[in-house]
Amino acid sequence: MKYYDKLIFELSCEGRCGYTLPDADWAQTSDSIPDGLKRSAAPGLPQVSEPEVVRHYTNLSDMNFGVDTGFYPLGSCTMKYNPKINEEIAGMPGFKGIHPLQPRSTVRGVMKLYGDLSSALCAITGMAGFTLNPFAGAHGELTGLMIMRRYHICRGDMKRTRVIVPDSAHGTNPASAAVCGLDVVQVNSLPDGTIDVDHLKTLLDDTVAGIMMTNPNTLGLFETRIEEIADLVHGCGGLLYYDGANMNPLLGVVRPGDMGFDIMHLNLHKTFSTPHGGGGPGAGPVGVAEHLLPYLPLPRIDGEKPDECAGRVSGFMGNFGVLMKAYAYILMLGRQNIRMAGPLATLNANYIKESLKDCYRLPIDKVCKHEFVFDGLADKSTGVTTLDVAKRLLDYGFHAPTVYFPLLFHQSIMIEPTETESRETLDAFIEVMRKIAEEAAADPDMVRSAPHNTSVRRPDETAAARHPVLKYRDLA
Ligand SMILES: *Cc1c(COP(=O)(O)O)cnc(C)c1O
Repeated sequence: MKYYDKLIFELSCEGRCGYTLPDADWAQTSDSIPDGLKRSAAPGLPQVSEPEVVRHYTNLSDMNFGVDTGFYPLGSCTMKYNPKINEEIAGMPGFKGIHPLQPRSTVRGVMKLYGDLSSALCAITGMAGFTLNPFAGAHGELTGLMIMRRYHICRGDMKRTRVIVPDSAHGTNPASAAVCGLDVVQVNSLPDGTIDVDHLKTLLDDTVAGIMMTNPNTLGLFETRIEEIADLVHGCGGLLYYDGANMNPLLGVVRPGDMGFDIMHLNLHKTFSTPHGGGGPGAGPVGVAEHLLPYLPLPRIDGEKPDECAGRVSGFMGNFGVLMKAYAYILMLGRQNIRMAGPLATLNANYIKESLKDCYRLPIDKVCKHEFVFDGLADKSTGVTTLDVAKRLLDYGFHAPTVYFPLLFHQSIMIEPTETESRETLDAFIEVMRKIAEEAAADPDMVRSAPHNTSVRRPDETAAARHPVLKYRDLA
């Protein structure tokens, strides 16, 4: 272990100094500061030299892992490489310096950009219009469901309070429906991972507000009966909501609008490239079909306030920096290249799946789209779990895949390589995954106690969530 692997947080030393402020003019005229606001003692700032501060933060950043550090196959989260030119463009002074309260007449360029981005998203998804306001995927879901509810209410159809969600859905789907005051009804999956249409039929009646779906679904499988499902749900008066958080596999290939969806959200921070680890920043624009345009929330690009509108979901018009990056990304790829994202993401996922399915259990052995799910190691006799495999991957310098989701299998490992990884990176990951399977057979205790090389080993994840210690020492 290197000396700096053990970060020391208490670095302050009386009298040590890294920076001195120039004498301030106002110090002489401090009479203007009311007595009650004046300090009686110096602030308790750490006293440290510049090299110590720089090393502290550099070492802290070394302990982190990001897509710029290495392969990050976090299924469903789409951690692809984000081109740096996006940052440069979003950081241009003309964009960075604007204020959300500026009069519209002074931000004409920005309004044009909003319009152009919305048009591009419409072309990509087959929707008729977009709001760029929501700040995340889950926020987009809530906005979309508010539109769905408002649509039924405006038609006087007050009974429609149930939303159908597949058992494989992302956890935010049922959560958003509940937050929107709707009741969640689960539709089962068939053994092949797609929606059980016969079960769906038993759930449909005049209390159904709509269905929330992902296609390809959360198992990375394309729902081939989507047209039939759309007819069934529309036939009973419900709407179809599309969770487009991960549009990668579909870009330029199929459009949710053409599949029959009425409302959808996109995660610009996943599909359209913005670094989004640690909970942000994001943007979850919501698109609607023609007949739902009046329901888009405020503030609207067209400046209108129709009676039907679903209300206000944000103070201003979205997370501008993330919108900028998505727009730059779309323009940079262009119509031709954006079509390559889906096939490449699909090829990469299938390559890993086929290369590992002899040592990891593949519960649904079909061609997948951008991601797929293993159910732990093929050899269940070693007692080595999915968590152990994930922890051991960290020792080899790979970020762990998504684990224990979806809930359909006990030992889910959900792998999404994305379209931006090279053959060499995929081969290195495959080699390490095979090696871990061998280690699990030869020395299961070693794998069960991994990671061995990281700064933090196995934190108590439950305690960390329930009783977080958010300061480095007890100041009480
Ligand atoms: C990430 C994700 C979401 C939620 O998006 P957030 O921006 O994290 O709120 C919803 N659905 C799917 C399928 C996702 O992968």
